[in-house]
Formats: sequence, structure tokens, C-alpha cells
Amino acid sequence: MRNLVVLGGGYGGLAVIEELLKNDLPDDVRIILVDRMPYQGLKTEYYALAAGTSSDIELRAPFPEDSRVTKRYGEVSDIVLDNRTIHFQSGDPLSYDYLVIALGCTDQYHGIPGAQEFTCSIQSFSSTRTTYRNIGDIRPFGQVTIIGGGLSGVELAAELRESRGDLNVRICDRGASILSPFPAKAQRYVREWFQKNDIEMKSRVSVSRVEPGTVYNQEEHIYTDVTVWTAGIQPSPVVQRLNLPKDGSGRVMLNDYHQVPLHPELFVVGDCASLRFSPSAQAAMAQGNQIAEVLRAIWSNETPNLGTIKLKGVLGSLGKKSGFGLMGDRRCRHGTQAVEKRSVMEIQTSFRINLKRK
Ligand SMILES: Cc1cc2nc3c(=O)[nH]c(=O)nc-3n(C[C@H](O)[C@H](O)[C@H](O)COP(=O)(O)OP(=O)(O)OC[C@H]3O[C@@H](n4cnc5c(N)ncnc54)[C@H](O)[C@@H]3O)c2cc1C
Repeated sequence: MRNLVVLGGGYGGLAVIEELLKNDLPDDVRIILVDRMPYQGLKTEYYALAAGTSSDIELRAPFPEDSRVTKRYGEVSDIVLDNRTIHFQSGDPLSYDYLVIALGCTDQYHGIPGAQEFTCSIQSFSSTRTTYRNIGDIRPFGQVTIIGGGLSGVELAAELRESRGDLNVRICDRGASILSPFPAKAQRYVREWFQKNDIEMKSRVSVSRVEPGTVYNQEEHIYTDVTVWTAGIQPSPVVQRLNLPKDGSGRVMLNDYHQVPLHPELFVVGDCASLRFSPSAQAAMAQGNQIAEVLRAIWSNETPNLGTIKLKGVLGSLGKKSGFGLMGDRRCRHGTQAVEKRSVMEIQTSFRINLKRK
């Protein structure tokens, strides 16, 4: 029997498994899915769990039930590539013939003192639950500060406004505007929405230190009750410890077949992989489908014939009723013209359902 071990049952890992299960899996291949949780956490919605507008159970999706898939629940601590073994924080090691690393990412604190200790995170299910509790316990009319004006920071700020109208919500970014990688028109739309909904935006903030109750913008002291960090990500610590060629963001370099060149039995998918796209669930799923194709080709002694990965664009939520997006060259926003609004709503709904694997 040959073991295909998939580390991480998130968007990338499950795409590999589900694609493989659709077609014949060789009789002598057994899939072992490893995760710390007994279900998938729908990470793209974690901002809503943190804000309290979605509940825990809504953000869990069941793992596939199939006799060809064995599950192993535990915290992966290390991978030893030379003897093809996975180690866990507790329990026996696991060996593999083929391995897919799909462990996602964690926060990147850029070495800023106090950032890790005194800010909340929305990068794992568990840390998001803690963030939800901390935000829920803020005194009436208290202050939340979000560090990082990217997509997840913006979505969290908007959702918080919907969840707790009494709170003062502030979002800080080191650039001139929130959503700096987005076109100016989308930035302006979100800025106007924030102004209308009383969300404070602070630009050109260079956080130098975080302490309980204070964020330091160099010499300026910014008062806060709870601070949430959305200012950068890096691959899982397990991948950080792997001695493999990586890009400037610490993601593993791969060949055209998503394999580690020196270890062709090793695939890396999603936020841990060096791709030409920014990390996203969409990219992880598309890449996962291709990894399944490559594995099928290897098992039948064929050469894989992979197409080009094309992503659908980016969509963001502003609470439950508004949103914005960028589809190819076309910018979209809710709430202008009826035709445009309807088409954006449709795209957003189907896109979200896709990510939810329902
Ligand atoms: C708030 C927020 C909103 C987002 N919105 C969008 C969006 O709208 N569209 C989009 O495309 N992307 C979005 N993203 C990004 C997207 O969620 C990630 O890029 C995507 O989840 C990456 O998929 P992955 O398979 O690499 O990792 P994940 O989906 O994070 O899966 C990793 C899995 O590994 C498990 N795991 C991790 N470490 C260990 C360990 N040591 N031992 C055992 N198990 C472990 C985890 O439990 C998890 O199941 C958003 C992210 C955030 C935080």
C-alpha cells in the first residue's frame, strides 16, 4: 500500500483530496488527511466570527466521508524529508510515500515588539474565537484598532460596525490608503463607506511597538482597548522550519508541477507555496486541483498536461449587505446602478458558495 498524506484540510488540501476522489484512485493508494481540527474551518469568513455576526458552527464544513480516506487528528510539529516522516506534538510519527503540505499561514509580525503578545489574530479558528471573546468583552463605547488595511482588515472593520454600533472602530495602514493593491476607484468607494459608517481610517502608520492599551506609531501613542493584527502573513511554522528553497515571503519554491524539485514526492499547496498570485482560497483550490491531476498522471506513468490557472477576481464584504470587487479589468461595487449591482451580487453569492464547498 502507498500512503498519500495530506497535511491540512483547508482549501488547498481538500481540493486535492476531492479531485482525486472524483476519479478512480489506484487500489494500492490510501489517502491520509491530517488536521488539528475534525472539520474544515471556513477561513474566508473568520472576520465574521471575530465580529460575532457568524457563529462557530456556521464556519465549519465536514471533511469527506469516504472509505479511501483515513483521518488523523493532531498537531503536526515537524516533517523529516530524508526519511519521509511526519512528527506530531503527541502520538506516533506517520510515514508517507507522497506528501501534500497544505498547512496554511500564520501572522507575520515583522519583529515588532509586543505585536504577537498584545494583539488578536484571525488566522486560525482557535485564535479567532479568542478575538471574538476579547472584542465582545470590550466596555460600551470602547476602542478597537485594526492594524493592516488589506482585505481581511477592511472586512473585519465593516463587520464590527454591523455587530456593535457602540464601538469606536479604527483601521490603521502604513500606506496612503486602505486597500492599496486595489484600484483607486475601489479604494475610494470603501473609504466613503467607512466615512459614512463612522470607521476611523489612519494612514501612514508605522507601528513600532504594541503594549496593552497602546499602539505606538513611532512617537505617537494610539489608545486602544483591543488591537487586531491583519498586517501580514507567513507560511505555517512547520514550513518555516523546513530547509528548502523559499521565496522572499518564506513560501516554498516549486516546479511547474507543484513539486519541490529535489523531492518530487513532495507537493506544497496554498499559502505555503510560492505562486505568481497573492495567497487566496481561490488560488489554493485551483492549485489543489492541478496537484490531483499530477498525482494521477504519476500513478499511471503519464506526463501531466496542466492548463494555466486563471482566478476569478477579488471580492470583499462590507457587512452583510454591501461589498466591492475587482473582476479582471472591471471594477465593481454595490449600490450604484441596478444592473451593475445585480451582477456583482450574483458573482459574490456564487463565489462565496464556491469557497464554502456546500
Ligand atoms: C479574514 C480572511 C478573509 C479571507 N477572505 C478571502 C476571500 O474572500 N477569498 C479568498 O480567495 N481568500 C480569502 N482569504 C485567504 C484564504 O483564507 C487563504 O488564502 C486560504 O485559506 C489558504 O488555503 P490553504 O489550504 O493554504 O490553508 P487553510 O485553508 O488555512 O488550511 C490550513 C489547514 O491546516 C490546518 N493546520 C495548520 N497547521 C496545522 C498543524 N500544525 N497541524 C495540524 N493541522 C494544521 C488548519 O487547521 C487548516 O485546516 C481570507 C483570509 C482571511 C484570514
